[in-house]
Amino acid sequence: MNACRVTLTPYAGNGEILRVDVAMVFDALPVQAGQTLLRAQLNTVSVPGADMEKVWVTDCEGQVPFTTREEEEYPIRWRYFDAARTTRGSVTLRYTVTPCERPDHGRHGPYFEFARENGGVSGPGLAFLPDVPGFTGDTFLHWDFARMPANSRGVCTWGEGDVRLAGTLDSLRQAYFSLGPVQSVTEGEFGFYWLTEPAFDVRALATFTKKLFGIMQRFFRDDKAVYRVFMRHDLTESSGGTALERSYMFGWNHHQTVTVAEKQNLLAHEMVHNWPRLKDQPYGVTTWYSEGTAEYYSIMIPLRSGLITKEQALLEIQKRTDAYYTNPTRRLSNMEAARVAWQDRRAQRLSYGRGVFFLANTDAKIRKATEGKASIDDVVLYLLEQDRLGATLGNETFLEAVQNMGGIDVRADWQRMCDGDAFAPLEDSFDGLFTVTETEAVEADTGKAAVSYRWAVR
Ligand SMILES: [Zn+2]
Repeated sequence: MNACRVTLTPYAGNGEILRVDVAMVFDALPVQAGQTLLRAQLNTVSVPGADMEKVWVTDCEGQVPFTTREEEEYPIRWRYFDAARTTRGSVTLRYTVTPCERPDHGRHGPYFEFARENGGVSGPGLAFLPDVPGFTGDTFLHWDFARMPANSRGVCTWGEGDVRLAGTLDSLRQAYFSLGPVQSVTEGEFGFYWLTEPAFDVRALATFTKKLFGIMQRFFRDDKAVYRVFMRHDLTESSGGTALERSYMFGWNHHQTVTVAEKQNLLAHEMVHNWPRLKDQPYGVTTWYSEGTAEYYSIMIPLRSGLITKEQALLEIQKRTDAYYTNPTRRLSNMEAARVAWQDRRAQRLSYGRGVFFLANTDAKIRKATEGKASIDDVVLYLLEQDRLGATLGNETFLEAVQNMGGIDVRADWQRMCDGDAFAPLEDSFDGLFTVTETEAVEADTGKAAVSYRWAVR
């Protein structure tokens, strides 16, 4: 079996991590002259990755020279390394990365930086590990802490310390990492990790998240044990979360209070991202579904399982109603919104709002058409099952599933949602627990008149 052995060697100095040396040894990596050896993710949405410095490639014949070029595949900017000659046998790649500082102004972006924090570093694999298209095989991750203080730890989504991954290198790129003075609350393969000891009760947050994971796993019919959550202390005035495969990172800051009640919805939203998805190519074509389901189930699963009350759910639904129906960019289509999302962060929120209300409305319509026998849950769980079987899923698969399981054609509704045309939330949505009435409102930023909605507990 072909294998790739990855060794990460962090260097400490002046109370921080100065750099991380990366060595990747491939048993075999056959690449023809002129073909791509590897490509590094220079920029993801608006966030720069760590630059690979001192890149050095060798095989059994010695140094493998390469040329580089950059290519934009929105929302990612890649640097390609193309082999100047054909490789032979085992290939070794060595380079070094310098972690960046955490952003300290403006709005936090997605957590894609490989950033320093309190003597450690955290971030996603995609920020510092290249994509190697020519490699298939098992991946072994090894940590070398010889140049680090005692008690340093290395953790990634797939485990603490050294790990072995069956399959491709991509799982490592899709993992979150934390290294240095990492602290944690763990139970089996569930873990909650942080580098800066916060002023709030982090263990209460970890306990809540663990419980939530158990509930969501049952709902999404998931039996894999691994799930790891990484926390970052933000220097910005706002914080958010970013989900990858079986993990997410979320932030906290000194400007906003942190309690379980305040964070529970964000933690739930990021966790839902582990499950429902449709193929998002071109970028933005199915974001409504991933963000819509994350928003919908971040409210409905905690509500149905008693983790939040009807009144708390009402506040969450109202917050989303106010945000979407007064968003001055709400007439942009999904594809227009995706194009400008990272320049105009108001547009970045559109998929969340229209996604959640469209899904909630579709749920109400399916329940009505099937006299309560089916719901949007059946559609989402069916698509998830297809995803696990390796099917490629898109908007058409969704529309067909609604037709087959709910007996209704929602294509016209779906098209309105995609185009940014107006639609109202339905009273029987959100499990029929609330009433909703139209109300006059004003747009955020512009102050122009807008139509919004007010919810109340039934
Ligand atoms: Zn999300």
